[in-house]
Amino acid sequence: MVAMDSAARTFHNLIAGEWREPLSGEYLENRNPARRGELIGLFPRSNAEDVELAVAAAAEAYRRWRATPAPRRAELLFRAGQILIENKQSYARDMTREMGKVLLETGGDVQEAIDMLFFMAGEGRRLYGATTPSELPNKACLTARVPLGVAGLITPWNFPMAIPSWKIVPALICGNTVVLKPAEDTPLSAVNFVNALIEAGVPNGVVNLVMGTGPECGAPLAAHPGTRIISFTGSTEVGRQVGQQAARLFKHCNLELGGKNAIIVLDDADLELAVDGALWGAFGTSGQRCTAASRLIVQKGIHGKFVERLTERAARLKVGDGLDPNTQVGPLINQEQLETVERYVEIGRGEGAKLRLGGARMEEGELAQGYFFAPTIFTDCAPEMRIAQEEIFGPVVSVLACEDLESALEIANGVSYGLSASIYTRDVNAAMRAARDLETGIVYINAPTIGAEVHLPFGGTKNTGNGHRESGLATLDVYSEWKTIYVDYSGALQRAQID
Ligand code: NAD
Repeated sequence: MVAMDSAARTFHNLIAGEWREPLSGEYLENRNPARRGELIGLFPRSNAEDVELAVAAAAEAYRRWRATPAPRRAELLFRAGQILIENKQSYARDMTREMGKVLLETGGDVQEAIDMLFFMAGEGRRLYGATTPSELPNKACLTARVPLGVAGLITPWNFPMAIPSWKIVPALICGNTVVLKPAEDTPLSAVNFVNALIEAGVPNGVVNLVMGTGPECGAPLAAHPGTRIISFTGSTEVGRQVGQQAARLFKHCNLELGGKNAIIVLDDADLELAVDGALWGAFGTSGQRCTAASRLIVQKGIHGKFVERLTERAARLKVGDGLDPNTQVGPLINQEQLETVERYVEIGRGEGAKLRLGGARMEEGELAQGYFFAPTIFTDCAPEMRIAQEEIFGPVVSVLACEDLESALEIANGVSYGLSASIYTRDVNAAMRAARDLETGIVYINAPTIGAEVHLPFGGTKNTGNGHRESGLATLDVYSEWKTIYVDYSGALQRAQID
């Protein structure tokens, strides 16, 4: 028998406006990664049959939803934003309990969903197309965004409400209906978000939620011929499979994948500011962000002082349960992630990097109940080392020394990913050259690699994705396509390129 927390209960899928049991009758446990004994709830272990029902419900609702005027759709999204504001604290607590990051950060995660709802609610009265002159007299030319149909959305656990909102909200404003498959580690935050949309009045079938594992529930959603757009955020490995499946059916496909982000610190940088940024970038969310700073490329003149200060400050970070307001670094998400991080520490040691701090699981006292790992710093790293090339997704940072801006940029760009990068310098020329030459989708000057805002495009180059952007107005291109409309009011046959 499983020990149930007093608040623990059994949750269901949302299909056509009804909370339904999974057809398998099976459920997955959702446990607190800071206290493994605490069961948060039982969530559906759905399969292809549940996906089938959800896609059918979304297809049925699509006809009415696409015909609903966008400003009316927007009003519902605005109302959902207000509901999120009212529930922000409790949603943040639920999120910390199910995935570990500290309350301050889970509050930020909910806030990002609020921001996205308000931003896209405004878009309901814009969704601008173009009008342009025709080459012929008495003829009008215009373009309009049109929805695609049913959107299949697959999301990871590290931003359990923000990332679903980045997908659901623009999909809805454009007139699509959706089926969300959230990560199996964070279904409660998805339930909370979807509940807010329902409470706001989003009609039955417009938003559907099926929960379960990637292979059993995510894969059938990606492969379903009824989903005309697949938007996936997660690992590069799974993203490749999802992209290949989508390509076979000529579906629109938006992939937001891994990162190996670098902060460059030049000799003239404000040392304390750079250390602040490195700490937040590397150890915020325990390093489990796609934009986490996992490489610090530091110029030789400041390298010694920087490493000393960084190590001193990182050693003082308070690791613990994210619900404790004093905690700065929470647990890792699960056993598998803990083992991955342990494996990379061994790889780093074997490659000859110098372990300056951490490097081990933390098991003293209450920490033994969760997946805690000490903030870890490797120095003397070479660019080709695996710890400087591969995404670790944990509180492990590799410091690399560099001669000058040129060599820093070469190291920063010398990885297969291209999500985010940053530079600390007081030299505007160096900053502008870095902004131009860093091969990433996002660049920060004198700020760490994390900190995206919803009204700007988010995404990366190379193996970080397939060229789309989430967030900002750019995301509208993912969830709509253009219709070109010609209106000939001449009353005669006019032939383009001929008359
Ligand atoms: P993951 O790829 O293991 O899982 C992501 C989602 O895909 C989950 O919902 C999972 O159940 C599902 N899934 C797994 N196998 C599947 C399959 N065969 N078919 C369809 N769906 C499947 O990733 P994760 O561990 O949850 O998240 C961490 C990864 O996400 C990291 O690589 C991180 O960099 C990346 N990430 C990227 C961004 C971004 O915007 N670029 C943002 C956050 C996280």
